[in-house]
Amino acid sequence: MLRLYATVWAWVLAYDWAEQTARELPKMARFIFITGGVVSSLGKGLASAALGSLLQARGYSVRLRKLDPYLNVDPGTMSPFEHGEVFITDDGAETDLDLGHYERFTGVPARMTDSVSSGRIYSNVLERERRGDYLGKTIQVVPHVTNEIKDFISIGEDEVDFMLCEIGGTVGDIEGLPFFEAIRQFSHDKPRGQCIFMHLTLLPYLAASGELKTKPTQHSVKELQSIGIAPDILVCRSEQPIPEKEREKIALFCNVRKEAVVAAYDLKSIYEAPLAYHREGLDQAVLDAFGIAPAPRPDLSKWDDVADRIYNADGEVNIAIVGKYTQLEDAYKSVKEALTHGGLANKVKVNVKWVDSEVFDNGDAAPYLEGFHAILVPGGFGERGTEGKIKAAQFARERKVPYLGICLGMQMAVIEAARNAAGLTTAGSEEFDHEAGEKRFEPVVYHLKEWVQGNATVRRKETDDKGGTMRLGAYNATLAEGSKVAQVYGSTAIEERHRHRYEVDTKYREQLEACGLQFSGMSPDGRLPEIVEWKDHPWFIGVQFHPELKSKPFDPHPLFKDFVRAAVEASRLV
Ligand code: GLN
Repeated sequence: MLRLYATVWAWVLAYDWAEQTARELPKMARFIFITGGVVSSLGKGLASAALGSLLQARGYSVRLRKLDPYLNVDPGTMSPFEHGEVFITDDGAETDLDLGHYERFTGVPARMTDSVSSGRIYSNVLERERRGDYLGKTIQVVPHVTNEIKDFISIGEDEVDFMLCEIGGTVGDIEGLPFFEAIRQFSHDKPRGQCIFMHLTLLPYLAASGELKTKPTQHSVKELQSIGIAPDILVCRSEQPIPEKEREKIALFCNVRKEAVVAAYDLKSIYEAPLAYHREGLDQAVLDAFGIAPAPRPDLSKWDDVADRIYNADGEVNIAIVGKYTQLEDAYKSVKEALTHGGLANKVKVNVKWVDSEVFDNGDAAPYLEGFHAILVPGGFGERGTEGKIKAAQFARERKVPYLGICLGMQMAVIEAARNAAGLTTAGSEEFDHEAGEKRFEPVVYHLKEWVQGNATVRRKETDDKGGTMRLGAYNATLAEGSKVAQVYGSTAIEERHRHRYEVDTKYREQLEACGLQFSGMSPDGRLPEIVEWKDHPWFIGVQFHPELKSKPFDPHPLFKDFVRAAVEASRLV
């Protein structure tokens, strides 16, 4: 009996030891290529991000990348109506909004080298061709363009255990072909078993026959196979539970294992995705596909806590986002998410209402803003709708409603203060005069052409091309001791991400501070105002940077956390 006991224990210990050692993968990234089929907007970015977080939960390091087939060099010059938000990295790249998902789920700061488009790839290839780097060869999609893509994919490959690369668009798109060809080649360039393919599809439900249809998935996989890619894992979006026999059918017809057919159901919150995908066995299927066994046990406590906060919210607050791109919520994706995180931190549900500022450009803002517990004016470009935003800032200041102004939202708050508190009635931004081609405003916000980045001075000319004239990426700021923001951050030294051309002019600082608008955050050299706040207001803060980009559900940004707290307080007063 004792012998049997000892043997069982020996087995248990050996298994535990094996689990521990399974974490130690040799330092070479395993690549997971994520593609989509059937229709767009299936949540490939979310699935990739959730998978990244699950691999982290098993003790692995990850990096996520996005390869976009469109021809713009980057999304920086694309309209937010077209493409949604532009996500900014610390190293100053203007990237696809999916990188925001990646960061929010994994906490790994995205880099310039995590996002590429056909435009960038082709422009690199053509630049090299002009330089004569190809030694007179005929430049072709295969191998020159595909090589460029493959080089991009492998940047920093020895830094992480898993590299997840999402291909934008859907299989079958003409412009996506070089990317699919490149990942096909890539998987053969690497030793066997180092790359897997995960494909997202849709199982439509036909109410009339009460059936989930698998044919579109079959066709989509056929399309992939016809270009030489055999998916290892299928993630099937479905509104209805996928019956076992349908799963078997998909596995059989699509040439994947049954356990590798993973269901993706609609969720109440995107932050349930890691737990939901884990329940459906996605991370297990991925580890199985790589032959990693036994799999280390996941620690999902971080996501359990997030889910608990989502389901056990205690009350709700109503916050207005006053902006221009309100028809397309994706234009302010990170702002919306950061508010949700602020809600999670305070265990309340944040109801966001999008208010178009243009509507009250020439009228009274009060009827549109009364009743909200807080007002947020986000970033933006161009003059349209700015008079309305200035009125929103005035409304918040006078009625003592919590106000968070981000980038343009801060500039509008300063203009409002200059006009209505300091008596500079013609105060405005040079941006609007530039746009209009005439001088109408006293420029309390002016065009920045020279600034310090680290130890270097950056200089810009009016004539520089649109893509390259902004102050982009992470910059330090010094906060005033005893200010509201210093208290909110719990520190006087911060680093935040920027994306703007214009800047508040310190020329008006004294005048504005005399009215009570404190310049409570400055660039380390003291030249650029980074934060302003009204002293005699419960919560009125404007920031020149984009705090929303660094917020995570499991680590909400201090400004959003405290802004929502202030909204909760305001909700108790009404
Ligand atoms: N348009 C303003 C600028 O360029 C603000 C930009 C922003 O809100 N991101 O300075």
